[in-house]
Amino acid sequence: MSVDRTDVLIVGAGLVGTTAALLYANAGYQVLLADKRPAVRAMADSSDGLNLRTVALAHRSVQLLQEAGIWQLDECCPISAIHVSERGSFGSVRMRAAEFSLPALGYVVGNQVLEQQLLAAASRHERIRLDYSWTLDSLTQHAEAIEVRSRRDQLPATTLCRLLIAADGTESSIRSAMGMETRRYAYGQSAIVGNLQCARPHNNEAFERFTESGPLAFLPIGEDQVAMVLTLPEADTSATMALTDHEFLAFVQSQFGGRLGRLSQVGRRHAFSLELVESRQQVSGRCVLLGNAARTVHPVAGQGLNLALRDVFQLAGSCQRSDDPGAAAVLQHFTARRLSDQRRVVRQTDALARVFRRQPAGLNAIMGLLKSSSLLTLDLIPGLRRGFGAMNAGLGVPLDLPAARQHD
Ligand SMILES: Cc1cc2nc3c(=O)[nH]c(=O)nc-3n(C[C@H](O)[C@H](O)[C@H](O)COP(=O)(O)OP(=O)(O)OC[C@H]3O[C@@H](n4cnc5c(N)ncnc54)[C@H](O)[C@@H]3O)c2cc1C
Repeated sequence: MSVDRTDVLIVGAGLVGTTAALLYANAGYQVLLADKRPAVRAMADSSDGLNLRTVALAHRSVQLLQEAGIWQLDECCPISAIHVSERGSFGSVRMRAAEFSLPALGYVVGNQVLEQQLLAAASRHERIRLDYSWTLDSLTQHAEAIEVRSRRDQLPATTLCRLLIAADGTESSIRSAMGMETRRYAYGQSAIVGNLQCARPHNNEAFERFTESGPLAFLPIGEDQVAMVLTLPEADTSATMALTDHEFLAFVQSQFGGRLGRLSQVGRRHAFSLELVESRQQVSGRCVLLGNAARTVHPVAGQGLNLALRDVFQLAGSCQRSDDPGAAAVLQHFTARRLSDQRRVVRQTDALARVFRRQPAGLNAIMGLLKSSSLLTLDLIPGLRRGFGAMNAGLGVPLDLPAARQHD
């Protein structure tokens, strides 16, 4: 059996793995990007409307992707303000992009739209090879490389890589094979996602509303459509999913109120069980975990992918310290640079998620909690409201960015 050699093997061609592949390839490394999926998923575009799954990218994430030439603000909806409120209370807080001199606090984009655009760029890149129907057999760490035995379309293959990146999601096969342990906490909550048609335009405003059953987020998509993330106790999930569209809309309306007028249609609904899953280490030898494989956080503040993208950019930036992308000095530098941002996001999303299980908290308590969780820029920008806005925009985290590298 022949042995393939590559600089970087990335397992998992989701949003995180594919972004990493493009950064490393642009920096001059040979990359093998492997996924268990049989082939590229069906194309999706923003015209999928009420059935499109979406993600909110912070202003900083979009800036990183744009400056790296990876993605150009295609088919997305800007968030010009975020409105935070509590059901049963008159108080509310609004953060506007203009307060930060930004064009938008963030952007909402279809998961598959973004994924297809990144995968298309990866498949055109001369230094990236894409392997589908890929499964892991075994891993062996050597001093200079990791030896990965796998199957492609059932055919055995062996790859020697200098850096192995696990971006294969929450139940990462690479993490298990490396014997890296996780800490898990089940919130006893689920998130139901689905898109809604509203009677009034959202004017590019996002809404975060804290209710007795959990946080409810509306993100702007089409002119008068929003992407909803409804958090509720796990025990109520099946019954809520079983509601007819009409009943479901009435329930969501009762939680959200009339700010966007009558909610008249809902697209396909999906339910996710919510759990904090965090690997106890992110690096082992020449292997690094990224994205959900490293930590899967509660979606309450839409931080998971944004945090992961900051990791990806710093990891590729740390590589500038050596010609060997898996060198211990590179990976140590990455870990040291990212630890405080990672801890802060985990602590903050975890605290928000736990406090809103069932009991109403009061807007003051919410704001107190946000403050006590030391938001990213509280020390830089006075004022909690501005701090929360800055966190959502992803501002205030120092990163060493990758530069193009000379290659043979
Ligand atoms: C309801 C909800 C709303 C969210 N909203 C936001 C938001 O607004 N903003 C935000 O920043 N984040 C948000 N997140 C978090 C965000 O979705 C995740 O952080 C992000 O999807 C993680 O991407 P990933 O590439 O690490 O993992 P995944 O998307 O899980 O991709 C993993 C890839 O690995 C492949 N794979 C899996 N197992 C194997 C294997 N054994 N071998 C080979 N390949 C394998 C899979 O096929 C897949 O392609 C939300 C999450 C949820 C649940």
